[in-house]
Amino acid sequence: MSFPFDSAPAAFAAAAVREAAQLVRRVQAEMVTDAISKEDKSPVTVADFAAQALVAYRLREWDSSAALVGEESAVALREPAARGTLEQITQFVASVVPEATSDAVCEWIDRGDADPPAEFWTLDPVDGTKGFLRGDQYAVAFALIRDGVVQVGALGCPELEGASSPAKGGAGTVIVAVRGEGAFAQPLDDPNAEWKRLHVADVADPANARMLRSVEKAHTDTGGIGELVASLGVTADPVPLDSQAKYSVLAAGGGDVLLRLLSPSRPDYREKIWDQAAGSIVVEEAGGRVSDLDGKPLDFSHGRTLATNRGVLATNGKLHDAFLAGLKAIGA
Ligand code: AMP
Ligand code: MG
Repeated sequence: MSFPFDSAPAAFAAAAVREAAQLVRRVQAEMVTDAISKEDKSPVTVADFAAQALVAYRLREWDSSAALVGEESAVALREPAARGTLEQITQFVASVVPEATSDAVCEWIDRGDADPPAEFWTLDPVDGTKGFLRGDQYAVAFALIRDGVVQVGALGCPELEGASSPAKGGAGTVIVAVRGEGAFAQPLDDPNAEWKRLHVADVADPANARMLRSVEKAHTDTGGIGELVASLGVTADPVPLDSQAKYSVLAAGGGDVLLRLLSPSRPDYREKIWDQAAGSIVVEEAGGRVSDLDGKPLDFSHGRTLATNRGVLATNGKLHDAFLAGLKAIGA
């Protein structure tokens, strides 16, 4: 199947995340070596900034008036102490955009600091930074939002196989969704391959619900999840993986429920829009449901966070009401 949508923004988003995912995978291969210490975060810093610079550059090329809300800002990169890092970033960006200079790269990154107008793009250049450093799953996440609702979402997952297999070391997948038109996936390195439509799984009994869980315990409330799982009688094994690759696995039927409970150490944490926009439309367009922990739709019209939503519940749809009721029952 050729590109499954008659949507110029979707075609642009797919191409942009593909190119950025291939770039960050190269940063990972070259910089995350056995020789680096666990504390050295420089590979993910380089990958993050390089991917944001690249996508911001491509976006301006494609539509000179488009607004971008990106996770990163170049303020710290402009400090003299960051000169070496900036040089590395510039080299990676210049490998795909030859005119890249250090000044240009900073300027491109800072195109992502828009105050969101009614229509804008949002980017997480490397979602799942811990996964990236560990050699596990991570994703480039890019989405178009209009009037607070996600219209197009694209995920580039360099370690994911066939959109649905959570094990690391896959050949990579690009996933694209358009509101009202479905979600599709294609191998990352084969833009001529068939696009496959994604469907959530049919699991309707909470006992069999495969929970897609963060690897990083600090990003959620593991105690709360344990309580919920016990109260709903879930017996299926959980599926742990990093990043919005979780939403792809849910959309492709490799898991059934994804929860972002508020971490007890950060009760005021509000989800960042770039952590949820692309993933949520991918799940919805594969037949799933996404809401906050109170069952309200996610509202992307409040700046850089989902300020009016508490946490996130994403399911295959069939399990949604049971999990909302379970959350209520445990007071989450
Ligand atoms: P995961 O891959 O599920 O561990 O989620 C990664 C995302 O969690 C990152 O993109 C962060 O923006 C986000 N994050 C960081 N701190 C927190 C927190 N305290 N609570 C919830 N999410 C967080
Ligand atoms: Mg993120």
